[in-house]
Amino acid sequence: MSQKDNVIKHGSENPFESMKKRFDVAAKIIGLDESDYNVLIAPQKAVIVNIPVTMDDGKVKVFEGFRVVHNANLGPSKGGIRYSMDVHLDEVKALAAWMTWKCAVVGIPYGGGKGGIKCDPRSMSKGELERMTRAYTDLMVDVFGPDKDIPAPDMGTGQQEMAWIMDEYSKLVGKSSPAVVTGKPLVLGGSLGRVEATGRGVMVSTRSALSKLGISPVGATCAVQGFGNVGSISAKLLAQQGMKVLAISDVTGGYYNPEGLNIDEAIAYRDNNKGTLEGYKGGSRITNEDLLELDVQVLVPAAMEDQITAENADKIKAKLIVEGANGPTSSSADDILHKKGILVVPDILANAGGVTVSYFEWVQNRLGYFWTEERVYRRADRVMKQAFEGVYSASIEHNCSMRIGAYCVAIKKVAEVEKLRGKFGL
Ligand code: NAD
Repeated sequence: MSQKDNVIKHGSENPFESMKKRFDVAAKIIGLDESDYNVLIAPQKAVIVNIPVTMDDGKVKVFEGFRVVHNANLGPSKGGIRYSMDVHLDEVKALAAWMTWKCAVVGIPYGGGKGGIKCDPRSMSKGELERMTRAYTDLMVDVFGPDKDIPAPDMGTGQQEMAWIMDEYSKLVGKSSPAVVTGKPLVLGGSLGRVEATGRGVMVSTRSALSKLGISPVGATCAVQGFGNVGSISAKLLAQQGMKVLAISDVTGGYYNPEGLNIDEAIAYRDNNKGTLEGYKGGSRITNEDLLELDVQVLVPAAMEDQITAENADKIKAKLIVEGANGPTSSSADDILHKKGILVVPDILANAGGVTVSYFEWVQNRLGYFWTEERVYRRADRVMKQAFEGVYSASIEHNCSMRIGAYCVAIKKVAEVEKLRGKFGL
């Protein structure tokens, strides 16, 4: 199989439309009035920049960059920055809206934002990435701010990019400003537990959901799509709970072992192999599509959007889907999964552990006092468990899926604050 064959194929759904379809269903259930509907669906701000970068060969390339603030009613907008060739405005708008709902679901005082640059980070040198990241920060200096809009890592970005943003922003405003960005390296004001936070939240949500289904985690089988920050840490922590991870995958394809994979070994392999699983021998080769349809009890899509669609939803055998990625299920698949009785823990709940610990990082930066890892985990686990119970109860109350239940919880909260603040809540 060539690498090209293995790459996940995107479904065809526009991500913003996909978000809007769920919003519409939930808005109807909670009886959201038309004025509130119109205000809450539209992003408050969308900025597009063209970023000139001198490449290593001396030529100047121009990259398109975005930052969308969907809603800042609950507090400063918060959301990651994605580097990928697939980045486009509607994707960033959808991701920003999901951040609004996510922060509301877990009850942290942030609105939702998201950013991205259309680029292929894997083909760029460290110097090119640094120049691009700094130039993007220069162009976004009026958007970002510890009390305005706080970026974080997302696909294709990590601690190094956050360090460059923190440094560039601090220079621009003339003072050290660590709270402008989260997901920073520990020595630069990052939080203990931030790297593991999203995967840990996926694990905690999986445990909560398994208990509702009456399934013990010990010996339960699962497959994890994506082996980056979210996928690999979810897989590791699920394995630590006694679950058998039968399959993992990344941009190079999938790896399957019916006896269960050794996840620590796979992570070590990836770390010594330029960040990919290419050539990994712990399991037989499958495609990313095959992985989704495996006979496992739990499926964790943790790579990218639109993986479970109307075309493959009927073939999914898992009893439980825990969405580590943002938007991995297209709206056209929702009803099919619901009718099949598959419990779906939606992205805006399942992967909210990341933004929760980002919030803790921001709090610690402002306090100038740092917590122990144990305190971070304890508080984050509590937030995740409470949010799970809140959404689960909403789904019972409204007789709907957990996804729609989560939207109901979030929209109600943001609408209530919008009413209190008035229509121009920035
Ligand atoms: P990452 O860059 O660390 O890892 C992404 C993984 O997906 C890698 O294994 C990569 O090989 C794989 N991948 C990327 N493109 C692919 C393609 N075309 N085909 C097959 N595999 C592909 O990213 P991440 O931070 O783990 O994010 C994964 C998902 O989780 C994204 O949807 C992101 O928005 C979401 N998320 C991340 C966080 C976080 O804290 N990092 C928090 C919440 C949600």
